This record gives sequence, C-alpha cells and structure tokens, in this order.
Amino acid sequence: MIKTDLQQAFNKQINEELFSAYLYVSMVNYFESQNLKGFAAWMRAQVVEELIHANKLIDYMLERGGDVKLEAIGKPESAWDNPLAAFEAAYAHECHISACINDLYSASVKAGDHAAAIFLNWFVSEQVEEEASADDVVQRLKLSQGAPGALFMLDRELGARVPPVTLNTAAD
Ligand code: MG
Repeated sequence: MIKTDLQQAFNKQINEELFSAYLYVSMVNYFESQNLKGFAAWMRAQVVEELIHANKLIDYMLERGGDVKLEAIGKPESAWDNPLAAFEAAYAHECHISACINDLYSASVKAGDHAAAIFLNWFVSEQVEEEASADDVVQRLKLSQGAPGALFMLDRELGARVPPVTLNTAAD
C-alpha cells in the first residue's frame, strides 16, 4: 500500500496531467481557428499522450491500493498571439511538468517507496522527450517567422505526427 502523503502527491500529478490534456485541447481549438490543421493534429496527438500519462498514474495508484481523488481541472488559456507564442507556452508547461515529476520522484525516495520511484523512472525519461519535442517546434517556428511558405511546410510536417490512438470521431 502506498503511504497517504505519497497518495496525495500522486493525486496532484494526476490533476497536472489532466490539466495538460485540457491545455492542449485549448491549443487544438486555437490552431483550428488559425486554419493550421497540421499544428492542430500535432496537439491532438499530445492530448492523447497526456490522457495516457494520467491513466498510467491512476492505474498505478489502483494497483498499490491507493485512493484516487479527482479534483477540479483549472481553466486553460484559450488564445495566443501567434503559433510561436502557443508553442512557447507548451514548452514552458512541459518544463513545469518536469519539475512536478522531479518533486514526486523525490517524495517517493523520501518516503522510502523505492517501487514508486522505479515506476516514475518512465516519467522522468518521458519528460526529457516532451521538453525536446515542444522546443524543437519552438526553434523551427523561430527560423520560419515572417515566412508564410515555411509555416505552411511546418504545418504539413506536424500534421504527419501519428497519435498513440486517435480522437477523430468524424467517421462515427
Ligand atoms: Mg504529461
């Protein structure tokens, strides 16, 4: 059984991951409003990833006999000045999530819960990827600023991202 204090810390992280999904849904809406379908598709894939992150934590809590408590999810931003500002916000958010995961890992070690720390190794590595993938788009947007052709090319490229599962319900 996972200690009560650590359960609270896991519940906080579940909320953080669900908020991440909510934030990226908001970015899907923003990119759709800008007619940047590829950017929107990239963000849809990110939404699915965040839901998977939340579910991994939930499943782990349940496996350990923890009490999953779902709290209210915060209201995300809904508008950005331009695609670069949106991706800079995504990158900053992932840096925040990395700090949260580091805190949760430290809390697990402090609680002497080595099993939880080992479980969280996956998240520590995942955050390196999450920061890098958002920053990669930030850097390419900086290179292409002011050039509509480059933005169009990047939109097409980002649209090729394959999500773990699809949220596209248009065919239903
Ligand atoms: Mg996440």
